[in-house]
Order: sequence, then structure tokens, then C-alpha cells
Amino acid sequence: MKKNPVKALEVEAAKRVENFGEVVSGYNEQDALSEASRCLQCKNPACTSGCPVGIDIKKFIYQITQKDYAQAYFTIREKNNFPSLCGRICPAEYQCRKACVLTKKGQPYASSESININFLERFVGDYGMKNNLEVPVNKDTRLSKFKVAVVGSGPAGLCCAGELARNGIGVVVLEGLHKTGGVLRYGIPPFRLPRDILDFEINYLKKLGVEFITNFIVGKARTLDELFSEKYSAVFLGLGAGIPSFLGIPGENLCNIYSANEFLTRVNLMSAFEFPHAHTPVSIGKHVVVIGGGNTAMDAARVALRLQKINSVPADTTVVYRRTEVEMPARRLEIEHAREEGIKFEFLVKPEGFCGDEASLVRRLTASRCELGEPDASGRRRPVEIPNSGFATDCDLAVVAIGLKANSILTNVTPGLKTDKYGDVVVDKETMETSLKNVFAGGDIVGGEGTVIEAMGMAKSAARSIVNRLLQR
Ligand SMILES: Cc1cc2nc3c(=O)[nH]c(=O)nc-3n(C[C@H](O)[C@H](O)[C@H](O)COP(=O)(O)OP(=O)(O)OC[C@H]3O[C@@H](n4cnc5c(N)ncnc54)[C@H](O)[C@@H]3O)c2cc1C
Repeated sequence: MKKNPVKALEVEAAKRVENFGEVVSGYNEQDALSEASRCLQCKNPACTSGCPVGIDIKKFIYQITQKDYAQAYFTIREKNNFPSLCGRICPAEYQCRKACVLTKKGQPYASSESININFLERFVGDYGMKNNLEVPVNKDTRLSKFKVAVVGSGPAGLCCAGELARNGIGVVVLEGLHKTGGVLRYGIPPFRLPRDILDFEINYLKKLGVEFITNFIVGKARTLDELFSEKYSAVFLGLGAGIPSFLGIPGENLCNIYSANEFLTRVNLMSAFEFPHAHTPVSIGKHVVVIGGGNTAMDAARVALRLQKINSVPADTTVVYRRTEVEMPARRLEIEHAREEGIKFEFLVKPEGFCGDEASLVRRLTASRCELGEPDASGRRRPVEIPNSGFATDCDLAVVAIGLKANSILTNVTPGLKTDKYGDVVVDKETMETSLKNVFAGGDIVGGEGTVIEAMGMAKSAARSIVNRLLQR
């Protein structure tokens, strides 16, 4: 008999919007066993090819059905350093779940019948964490004399650091901000990724011997040449894509218009929701407009709504997107959650300008309606403005979440480090080595905004190349 997919437990929308606690509670043991039992254990599983780090998904799901959670944990950890983290935030519906045989071919994202691989991964990851399961480490004594600098402590940097340390290499992570984790800390809100999960993963790296130095901007505190002269044998660049894009429309410089990066950093990294107990303030709008259709826009809107609720301001937060829901790059689950929480969506709307008051505070957004035209370079149908469709809407806080670009602090001061027209670092796709010998790169600084697991996949390839290079010395 066909079994229905098991839905993960979630905190009720009306309760969860009043705080920053985790929304999805995940699977209990019975849920995990039921969901695992739906896996067809295909002879030629497609799911693994949908995973950027190549987890043996069929095997770990089988081990769950045998209640061998420890072995399931080790199976995942062979390929993925951070299962609890990825089980929470991986866009599985575009990756392993989309490749699952239970999703019909040609769908843009996984059907709900596909196995909930991410929730199973999360269950196993949390089991390993709760039971302090130690992953066997195979340090190679030939590598212990080498030291590698990892620049940036986002998922790319953390993953590369872990891989190198497990091989016995001395690793120092140099991070520009005062806290480690990159987007995992300053971008993704705690209601999606609780900070104890992130801290656990970072502490695990510390136990492996990885050293972290914060408030250290490479390109300012040291150049790459200086790092090499300090006896680092190789450098990995996991710089991310930290520079926000803007709309370039009139009025965008008015007060209370934030980039999503600034808005989220104020709240997630600087605890602005606790102001004045925390030092950093953030504006709480009565009519919030978030512009964009990706994960960043969903996070910004859900944070803005929580700030309204916590401060007893009637909730009015709207996401404005120039295409339709089908083209939205955000995770399906996040869109669903945002909607359940009361966030409104205005599709096929193109912002034209912001209007302010005499104090230069934003008061209104003017916009036009669109319809979908031919597909553009991204393959998604292009929004085409409908003539004379202009309108205005109240807006006293706007968050612009339309994309991120590479930060050029380091690349600008590093002669010979090749970048493309977007400012991203160019690498050899096999080795992840840049145009500079012994300098490797991965994550969003290579190829622009991607996903956590893609960043980790690149970092693993780079770490493999660094190990091979050092073994030849
Ligand atoms: C709000 C938001 C939500 C997202 N949600 C998801 C999601 O749900 N699922 C998903 O898979 N992906 C998501 N993403 C994308 C994902 O977070 C990124 O693809 C991923 O973080 C990229 O990892 P990274 O290590 O390359 O870069 P980052 O995470 O950006 O880390 C780069 C780090 O390098 C540091 N750094 C930069 N330059 C220097 C320098 N010169 N010296 C020292 N340090 C430096 C930065 O301070 C930063 O800490 C989201 C992104 C955002 C912004």
C-alpha cells in the first residue's frame, strides 16, 4: 500500500511569529522510521547525483530503517561535515529530492511525494550531535608540518577547514567579522538555523585543532603575499558574496530603506531585536515592503514581521516580486511558511521609486504591474511592464533583497588574481585553484550566489587539491 509522506512537526504560525525560536521541529524517531520506509531503495538511485557533495542517500536511509542511526550518521559524515545544518537549510527540493524517482520528470522542483531526505538527514545529524558521536579522523603525519590559511568562515571556509584538519594539516581561519559562520550567522535567521547547531559544528572544528582569528580582513590586515611569507603553504578563499545589489530607482537613498544584508545583519548578528539592551537599533515599520523573490527576501520579510509582532505593531509586511510565484528562487517551504505567518505577496510588480516626507523618511513605494514575456538568460520568463499600470502603496520600511555580489576588498589588492566580469574569482573547475599558484577558492566568490551545500561541494574539491599538492612537496 502506498504510504503518505510524513510531514515534519512545526510550531503553529500564530505562536512562532512572536519570537525567533525554531519553526520546524523536525522528525521524531517514529516519523523518521515511517518516512525512511517509503524509500524504494532504487537499484540505480538518482538522489545521490542531485546532492552536490554526493551523500550515499540510499544507504543512510536504509540504515535508518534498521534503526542503526549511528552508522547512518557516519555514512552522511563521510561526505557532509554538517548534517544537522544542511538538514535544516538545504534547498533539497531543487537538489536530491528533485532527483528522487518519486518526483515526476520535468518538474521545476520536487513533488511532495518525493522522500523528505532533508528531514531524515536532520534527524540523523541531531542524533549524532546529541550522542556526541565522534567521526574517525585519519590524520596523515606527512601533512602535519604544513599550515593553510582559510579566508572566510562561511560554509565554504568551514568545510575546507574541516577537511584539511581531518587530514592532519594545521588550519587557521581568518574572518573579517567579529563572529564566525558567514551567512549562516549574519544572514539566515535563528528561526531557521538555531545558533547552537552552528556553534556545535564550529566547536567540532576547534576540537580538530582549527584555529579561528576574527576581525581579520585579508587584503587589509595582511595581503596574500604576506600570508605566504608567514609560512602558510596554501590559501583557500571562501569570501562569499557580501555586497548587496540595489534597484537604482529614485528615492532609494531615503531613510528606512535597507539592503537585506544590512537589515538581517543588524538583527541576526547584532541582536537589534533586543535594542536598547543590544547596542544596534533597527527600524520597525508599520507598512513593510520587501523587494525580491529569493531566500534572502523571505528571511527579511519574516524577520520584519516578527519585529512588528514583538513590538505590538499591527503586522503588515508585503513581498513584492516582479515575476510570479513559479519563478521565485526561494525555497518552497520558506514561501509556505511566510504565507502561513501572514506575509502578503504582490506578484508581477516592478518598483519604480520611493517617495519620502520632509524628514527624508520613506513613506510610499510607486510601482507598475507586469506580465510575463519570453524567457530570459536565466530561463525564467521575463517580466514586461504593462503600460499605464502605475500605482502607489504605503511603505515606511523597505528592504531590498535583489541579489548579492562579490566583495572586492581582497581581489582589488591582489595582482594576478583573475576575476570575471562580475568580480568573482576564476578557478580551474577541477582543482579549484585560482590563477595564483597555491591559492584556491570556493563558495559564492566563485560563480556568484549559490547554496550552502554547493559552497561546501566546492570547498571539498579545493581541500582535496590542497592535500594532493602538499603531499607532493
Ligand atoms: C539571507 C540568506 C539566506 C540564505 N538561505 C539559504 C538557504 O536556506 N539554503 C541555502 O543552501 N543557501 C542559502 N543562502 C545562500 C548561502 O548562505 C550561501 O550560498 C553560502 O553562505 C555561501 O557560503 P560562502 O562560505 O561562500 O560565503 P559566506 O557565507 O558569505 O561567508 C563568507 C565569509 O567570508 C568573510 N570574508 C569576506 N571577505 C573577507 C576577507 N577579505 N577577509 C576575511 N574574511 C572575509 C565574510 O565576512 C563571511 O563571513 C542564503 C543566503 C542569504 C544571504
